[in-house]
Amino acid sequence: MNPAFVPRLINGPFGDPGLYIQLRWEGRAVLFDLGHNDSFPAGDLCRASHVCVSHCHMDHFIGFDRLLRVFLGRDQTLWLCGPPGILDCVEGKLRGYTWNLVDGYGFSLEVAEVWPDSIRRAVFRAASGFRREPLPTQPFHGLVVDEPAFCIRAAHLDHRIYSMAFAFEEKSHLNVDSAYLARLGVPPGPWLSALKNALRRGEPDVVTATWQENGHDRSRDFSLGEVRGALVKETHGQKFAYVVDTLFSPENAERIAALAQGADVFFCESPFLDADEDQATRRYHLTAKQAGLLGRSAHARELRVFHFSPRYAGRAEELYREAQASFCGEQSEAGALTSAGK
Ligand SMILES: [Zn+2]
Ligand SMILES: [Zn+2]
Repeated sequence: MNPAFVPRLINGPFGDPGLYIQLRWEGRAVLFDLGHNDSFPAGDLCRASHVCVSHCHMDHFIGFDRLLRVFLGRDQTLWLCGPPGILDCVEGKLRGYTWNLVDGYGFSLEVAEVWPDSIRRAVFRAASGFRREPLPTQPFHGLVVDEPAFCIRAAHLDHRIYSMAFAFEEKSHLNVDSAYLARLGVPPGPWLSALKNALRRGEPDVVTATWQENGHDRSRDFSLGEVRGALVKETHGQKFAYVVDTLFSPENAERIAALAQGADVFFCESPFLDADEDQATRRYHLTAKQAGLLGRSAHARELRVFHFSPRYAGRAEELYREAQASFCGEQSEAGALTSAGK
């Protein structure tokens, strides 16, 4: 399978958490969390169309400033969601600067504050000095982004505040048969994204491929009926789950298992070793063993742990080993989930 979405962590395991999912065929990306991101290429950061923030503890939100700086001169709207309180946190960040010379700028930030039953929204436009302009509230039923190619689900977890967990799901994976395309003499290009979106929506019925050949403009029309099952074949889509900063409680475990069910990759924090479980529980964080159990109960294909506590500097292998052993069921786990939150 030729993956449409490529995930990568923003930092190493001891760095601030953050996940970047590249949408390969659309030239854009989705970003999870805004921890320290100074070493992440600006050219990649500026491709983000959606940003999902788990919560506004400093290690998850300090990178907002760099994101803002990268986007400021761009004539586009960036969408950002987060837990209850995110509107005030974004506004507070924006109020920390002077905006008297940006009235000609086209950049705006649309913020969605996700409560358990509703999404409160506002837009902050550079042209108006980033004044908060309320937008209509929407109901929340688990979905924060719903696009033709993918959706993002969210769940509220307990971190002594709300911490949002997210699942990024490709709706269905559409594979282009490149040999078939080559036989038609049509080169791949952005029109393939338009074609896939048309297949997902069921319209428009005809998509036109355009390209240059020997200095001449060429084009060819493709009808959806012609390409379905021939040029484009449908397979199971990708799924990535992102879980950080949460208590190992039965309620959280249940929500995470439901959200991350069947994920191809389950990205999960694991700041502590099992030996320091009491400390993890006091801080409303997970241990590596608990991360493994959560990945296992979600039937994830792969577990990738990160957000290690600096107390284990030089001991990353121990955290990886403990998480993988638990994920693979190599440790005694009897009653581990039922005794969660003890
Ligand atoms: Zn954190
Ligand atoms: Zn936190």
